[in-house]
Amino acid sequence: PVDAAFVRRWLDAAAAAMDRESARLTELDSPIGDADHGTNMRRGFLAARTAVEQDPPETPGGVLVLVGRTLISTVGGASGPLYGTLLRRAGKELGEEQAVSAARLRDALRAGVDGVAALGGAGPEDKTMLDALLPALDALTGALDAGGGAADALAAASAAADEGAKATTPLRARKGRASYLGERSVGHQDPGATSSALLITALAETAR
Ligand code: ADP
Ligand code: MG
Ligand code: MG
Repeated sequence: PVDAAFVRRWLDAAAAAMDRESARLTELDSPIGDADHGTNMRRGFLAARTAVEQDPPETPGGVLVLVGRTLISTVGGASGPLYGTLLRRAGKELGEEQAVSAARLRDALRAGVDGVAALGGAGPEDKTMLDALLPALDALTGALDAGGGAADALAAASAAADEGAKATTPLRARKGRASYLGERSVGHQDPGATSSALLITALAETAR
């Protein structure tokens, strides 16, 4: 079951991944951005971990809302409000429940992803974090609908997110800073899609 302790383990795994991959994310943000995505993610997720340790919420939704709020207040730029919205909306969707099923977590993530799309105005193939998040959600839904267990369904979501991030390379950016480059954004993997794949992979690892 997905309870507060589960979400905290997810957050720890995500913060560790952002810390480990910070240099790579910033490198991806150099040719098509302003070379800060790795430092942004690292700073935000480490701050979120500290905030949760200092005042641990008792519900999975409460942890997600606190993480989202901390990302909004510490990251800035485009990705802070977008990731903040993803996790805050997901947390709000779970309300006060103490422990939820994988299907409820999927519904919460869907609400979060809808929030990202509404806030940023991006859709599929705009070369953004949505190109990892939307395929992950589809894979998760497909696997759960097929009767798969939570761990396997999340593993499928992680693989789909990874594939989605890689598939941003040939795309031309239509949103965010990279879109200013027009045609010159082609040939580079999107940093935000890459960090989203790290986030979903951390979730799959937590369920394994
Ligand atoms: P900034 O561009 O403000 O420096 P970051 O470098 O931290 O912010 O994050 C850049 C990432 O944010 C991009 O790689 C992209 O995935 C994501 N992004 C930017 N704009 C949007 C948007 N409108 N919708 C969804 N994702 C976006
Ligand atoms: Mg940047
Ligand atoms: Mg920036």
